[in-house]
Amino acid sequence: MSETSLTLEEIYKLALNALKINGCDEYNAEAVATTVTYAERDGSVSHGLFRIPGYVAALKSKKVKGDARPKNTFLSQNAIRVDGDYGFAPTAIKVGIPDLVKITKKHGVGVLTITNTHHFAALWHETEALAEENLIGIACTAYKPSVAPAGAKKPLFGTNPISFAWPRKNKTPVVYDMATSTMAMGEVQVAARDGHKVPFGTGLDKDGNKTDDPQAIANGGVLLTFGDYKGSAIAMMIELLAAGLVGDLFSFEAQKVDNNDGGPARGGEFIMSFSPELIAGENWNEHAEKFFKELSSMDGVRLPGQRRHNNRNDEGPRKINSELIEKIKNL
Ligand code: NDP
Repeated sequence: MSETSLTLEEIYKLALNALKINGCDEYNAEAVATTVTYAERDGSVSHGLFRIPGYVAALKSKKVKGDARPKNTFLSQNAIRVDGDYGFAPTAIKVGIPDLVKITKKHGVGVLTITNTHHFAALWHETEALAEENLIGIACTAYKPSVAPAGAKKPLFGTNPISFAWPRKNKTPVVYDMATSTMAMGEVQVAARDGHKVPFGTGLDKDGNKTDDPQAIANGGVLLTFGDYKGSAIAMMIELLAAGLVGDLFSFEAQKVDNNDGGPARGGEFIMSFSPELIAGENWNEHAEKFFKELSSMDGVRLPGQRRHNNRNDEGPRKINSELIEKIKNL
């Protein structure tokens, strides 16, 4: 596999141009290109430039509006709805987060429900934005079905990611961001292509038997949730929050309306934030730091988000798959 070095600015421009040429206005293209660039910067490669062909496919098929203008509506003093205007999620998030920060700082708790949008980015972007304001953030979203609920042999859940960020004064936040499936379907497909096994129980074959054969999972089989019925309960919760509560499509409904153009399906996102200062009191940071000190001092432990934050310190160029760069230039 050949790779080409690109600076973060070159990555941003590559993404921005591909989006603009294919129907995104500057406002929307900037939001998506920033999310993509941050993913490359932090080493979340599966949500960086790799996603641009999918974003462009959704613009070309007109599934997604490149000139979306998301708007906030206050549902209560603590709850805001962003109507994404059928654009990409990063634009709706950019519009929603500043008001979410304001209400959370005032009332201690805030909820942001995002509807009519198309999401297939990493979620740490939004929870970290809250942590940078000294707030705790939780975000989750559903997707098209590829994961079987515990006990079932057919998919109903999406890979349904959830992210949590805890702010730390003068330090990067502690952030986790993870799919609730055992593995991303893309990784299973790569293992199938390269002839590698996956851990036993990553998914089921077409007859519903647990397997370590990625071919069997990718061709007619299904993924499972992490942690058996416990992960299944969390994936179910995400369906209920990001679709039931938000008032947008469950994964099974998103599949019915999606045109399968390779771009992100329509759906909602649920974001919640808390002010530790208002809820725990002035000493919240020092108290939590004692906990992080204990945790980090244990042999073998590293804090989630640390890998990404270490990558972020490197301001130099990133190595990008050369074929992908050509593909994006030709879009
Ligand atoms: P990973 O399994 O790679 O990582 C999950 C989390 O665990 C990360 O926060 C990671 O931190 C942390 N972590 C990993 N190893 C350790 C360790 N040894 N000790 C402590 N923490 C650790 O992520 P997934 O493959 O599950 O998800 C990847 C991305 O895909 C996410 O960003 C998610 O939002 C996105 N996604 C988006 C979807 C969408 O529809 N929008 C659908 C599904 C997934 P670190 O980053 O520092 O390694």
